[in-house]
Amino acid sequence: MVFNLTTLPDALVPGDAGYEEAAGVLFGQGRPAVIMRPGTRGEVVDAVLHAQRNKLEIAVRSGGHGLLAHGTSDGGLVIDLGRLNHVSVVDSDRRVVRVGGGATWARVDEILRPLGWAISSGDTAGVGVGGLTLGGGFGWLVRRFGLAIDNLVAARVVLADGSVVTASATRHADLFWALRGGGGNFGVVVDFDFIAAEVPSAHFGEIVFDPVDPAAMIRSWRNAMRRAPRELTAALVLPPSGSDAASSATVTFCVTGCDVSTADSVIEPLLGLGRVTRASIEERAYGDILEPGHPLPPGLRLFARNVMMDDLDETATVAVEQFRHESPATSVILRSLGGAFGEVPWDATAFAHRDAEVMVLAMSMVPEAQADLLEPAFRSAWSGVAAHGSGVYLNFQGSATEEDIATAYPPATRARLVEVKRAYDPGNVFACNHNIVP
Ligand SMILES: Cc1cc2nc3c(=O)[nH]c(=O)nc-3n(C[C@H](O)[C@H](O)[C@H](O)COP(=O)(O)OP(=O)(O)OC[C@H]3O[C@@H](n4cnc5c(N)ncnc54)[C@H](O)[C@@H]3O)c2cc1C
Repeated sequence: MVFNLTTLPDALVPGDAGYEEAAGVLFGQGRPAVIMRPGTRGEVVDAVLHAQRNKLEIAVRSGGHGLLAHGTSDGGLVIDLGRLNHVSVVDSDRRVVRVGGGATWARVDEILRPLGWAISSGDTAGVGVGGLTLGGGFGWLVRRFGLAIDNLVAARVVLADGSVVTASATRHADLFWALRGGGGNFGVVVDFDFIAAEVPSAHFGEIVFDPVDPAAMIRSWRNAMRRAPRELTAALVLPPSGSDAASSATVTFCVTGCDVSTADSVIEPLLGLGRVTRASIEERAYGDILEPGHPLPPGLRLFARNVMMDDLDETATVAVEQFRHESPATSVILRSLGGAFGEVPWDATAFAHRDAEVMVLAMSMVPEAQADLLEPAFRSAWSGVAAHGSGVYLNFQGSATEEDIATAYPPATRARLVEVKRAYDPGNVFACNHNIVP
């Protein structure tokens, strides 16, 4: 295919300097026919229309951290939104912040930190605002301020036909509902309007316990989090059962909205969960608790599964322990929910699993050469844990099968997503994602 590159916004094709680097994302190297890096909303429209005229699959990229490398393509057209990384305050009284669809959370922090503001986001600075938000967005403020989508008030979207609409509670409300959890299915979001929160600082730390009885630790961590105020969000990390650290467990936590002595009292119950070998708590700017994020080491593949659990009961706990033994190279992370997250009605957004008290994640890095061989056993072991869940969070799911989509969206949510897809993208132009087929 021959492109008239003079009409394309900042385009790269194979052979151009910088193409190889631009064709890669964190979890994969693609070989797109063309990579466009629009700097304006109009250039995004050009890219969307150009792809359709030339029958090219569209891959949309924000921070490039999608687990399934949907931000690149083999033979298609990548719309890399990295230049659309503006962050500005549009209403300081209401703390409305407009964020470009290609900004990272590090960029958001750069602008909000001097104001003492933050937007509930994830745990990693380099993750894109686009992908994280459209999936939901779980982070260290989730119990206090809900998901990233719970703080979203509007989005400007380039649709498949090249038109640009603003979606909010009052305009294109069906699209606004779908964007909050339905992923990149409906168009290219060129900017998001969030309500930021006042978060002048965060008390962040970790507590390492050793030795632990993992099932007892899960139980007591769960009980402590059921009683905890929403100012505390915490994760329990159980290392691979086959590793040197197998006898230990780590609780990582973030407390906001209180002074040091209150923060100390909030985390005190966590210190009582077992024999503490190391503990730290530090007051930091919110942006400083975000991890830098690291590329996957070459030659390795990530296995990632998760499940939302409404009740982390005894049988679920036993299932987690069983999984750790059957899959000894896998870390299991339990992230606490509840609080503001659970107060949003299940059907208010396309992310429906508001009754979950915990998200359980399994992550393992395996040599690429053995990955195909090992994956069935990993999945089969995980099915015992998954059976205790009410759904999955697609942004942490290492696959995009029909079963994943069906588990992520309850039937009524899925039916509504299909309706919105039919209205806004009937030709399935935006299909390189956890796809909602129109
Ligand atoms: C190291 C790491 C840490 C993570 N931590 C968290 C966490 O704490 N909490 C959490 O909730 N998730 C977390 N995630 C998961 C993360 O939310 C997803 O991987 C997400 O898809 C990444 O977004 P991105 O924009 O960086 O990725 P990309 O690969 O750029 O985008 C992913 C997909 O989102 C869609 N998309 C992105 N931007 C737009 C846009 N502007 N318009 C339309 N569609 C768009 C596209 O379909 C795209 O393929 C983490 C992932 C990694 C790798």
